[in-house]
Amino acid sequence: MAKSKATIDEHGQMRDRRGEWRPGRLVFLEPLLDRPSDIRGLLRWMFGFPGMLYPWFALYMGVIGVSYAFFTPEFVVMQSWSIGWVLEIVLRNAVILTLWNGVFHLWFIRFRMQGRKKKYNANWMSTNNPTFLFNNQVYDNVFWSYSGVLFWSGYECLMWWAYANDMLPFVGFDTNPVYFCLLMLAVPFWRNFHFYWIHRLIHWKPLYDWVHYLHHKNVNVGPWSGMAMHPVEHLFYFSCILIHFIVPSHPLHMMFNAFQTSLGPAVSHSGFDEIVFGDEMALRNDRYMHYLHHRFHNVNFGESNVPLDKWFGSLHDGSPEADAHFRQVHMERIKARQA
Ligand SMILES: [Zn+2]
Ligand SMILES: [Zn+2]
Repeated sequence: MAKSKATIDEHGQMRDRRGEWRPGRLVFLEPLLDRPSDIRGLLRWMFGFPGMLYPWFALYMGVIGVSYAFFTPEFVVMQSWSIGWVLEIVLRNAVILTLWNGVFHLWFIRFRMQGRKKKYNANWMSTNNPTFLFNNQVYDNVFWSYSGVLFWSGYECLMWWAYANDMLPFVGFDTNPVYFCLLMLAVPFWRNFHFYWIHRLIHWKPLYDWVHYLHHKNVNVGPWSGMAMHPVEHLFYFSCILIHFIVPSHPLHMMFNAFQTSLGPAVSHSGFDEIVFGDEMALRNDRYMHYLHHRFHNVNFGESNVPLDKWFGSLHDGSPEADAHFRQVHMERIKARQA
């Protein structure tokens, strides 16, 4: 039965007639490019928790460090193509994605560790739904995510082969430590800059209908929804890795770029505004911006650290005013199409 009015859920959260909960604050734009003159805000974001460095950046550094040291073939092996080392990379990436996405899925969805506390959409993942492969949203999302692993690994193998054959501009920590660190910090900005443009491209109607519709079947998102994309979208999405053909980098920069592109979507599609541990502790997750993209489609094409949406007028900041504005834009677009 359709809900007719706002309700209070089991956690005391107000949900609208569609069952949606909003965090009651605006979308957080990270200050470096959005308001660089706000020095205090900038410092708080750079060194605070959660912030630029903790916890996600530090966690990624741990994952790529271990993968580089223990689960990447020797350069001499990767100088020539062979099925052995390529499979090793594919398998390593499949295991990492399974563990990473698995932790978020088990926490939020399978065991519902925090119930619907801070969950934007009231519903759980869809079952018995022919929209999705196998009539099951999670199975569908898992299937397409492993297709993503093939593209992630394909790009990564190409880069490893090129590094092993000295075909890429190389920078080491020992010779250029400042550049090395700054480039590492710049990787998420490059990634999101790239994502904004390819995301706008696949919202072009012919590409949307052919490719991107698959990702947008997920209006109510979960951790596995992030990488649930059409293979053509994977091809575009992971092309951000090719930057290392031009920009002098270390393989660790390439790995960070590739790993964040692969693992980040589980976090950005968690569907929860905070990761809540018991009554006392919560980790702000700030995925409101991309959640609104899944809800409204033609808003928030980018992420919060590169405010291209704000500069080009597609930012939905989560306010009722933005709701009204983009509804109006939507209606005008429909009228123009019918005229
Ligand atoms: Zn998405
Ligand atoms: Zn989209």
